Amino acid sequence: MSTPRDRTAWLQGGDAVCIQPPTTVQRAWHLVLLGPPGVGKGTQAELLSNALGACPLSTGDVFRAAKGRAAAPGSAMALAQAQMNRGELVTDSTVIALIRERHQCLHCSGGFMLDGFPRTLAQAQALDRVLSAESLQLDAVISYELPNDQLIARLSGRRVCPQCKAVFHTVNRPPRVAGVCDQCGGALVQRPDDQPEAIAVRLATYAEATAPLVNYYREHGLLVSVVADGEPLDIVARTLDALAERVLPA
Ligand code: AMP
Repeated sequence: MSTPRDRTAWLQGGDAVCIQPPTTVQRAWHLVLLGPPGVGKGTQAELLSNALGACPLSTGDVFRAAKGRAAAPGSAMALAQAQMNRGELVTDSTVIALIRERHQCLHCSGGFMLDGFPRTLAQAQALDRVLSAESLQLDAVISYELPNDQLIARLSGRRVCPQCKAVFHTVNRPPRVAGVCDQCGGALVQRPDDQPEAIAVRLATYAEATAPLVNYYREHGLLVSVVADGEPLDIVARTLDALAERVLPA
């Protein structure tokens, strides 16, 4: 298993910097990963990061990392955490401010993969403005696709380790000892937003707010669709083939 990427600058924002430099890459990819909750974007981001060197920038991870620090009652972060626990989207202005604050991560020499952002048309348009202000361009938007029944099965079985962030699944990727992290021995938990009520809200929100971005990016000539069934390694191979086709058209 490879060492997880140093994402200190992304996770903490502000003046935080990554101590461990990104690996040298031939090409710094600028990607967006799109897809419904449970489609496996986080796993693909990790595998693609190993293959391409690009840093996985997950907005959900920033909100989860902030949970460890006390958010002032009534603050944007406290509201964001409550919205997240209910499975709702965090307010656009909060998410967009978070991206603006971390704009230096878009210049990462290893490249970047935005995972979980943008999720609304307003966010996609804000991203266009941020990238243009930074003189950057997206190479592709990878859209992962899977039917809803499979998404629900993946989400409801997911268990995570709060200590080392390892991810398991009660059926597809069970830990050696039930409820215990293989990597660090921590007690596995179910994310609040993986509870059944929150899953229903997240899938409905995706269909209404985020699915229209597929067309948005298709119209911008950036969309690369990938079927997300099967094993993670098969899906990442499919993704890399699709990217290679896009970069080296026949
Ligand atoms: P994720 O790990 O990407 O599934 O994100 C977990 C939760 O964080 C989501 O259900 C939202 O509550 C919140 N979140 C993450 N990214 C965004 C975003 N771009 N816009 C709004 N809410 C977000």
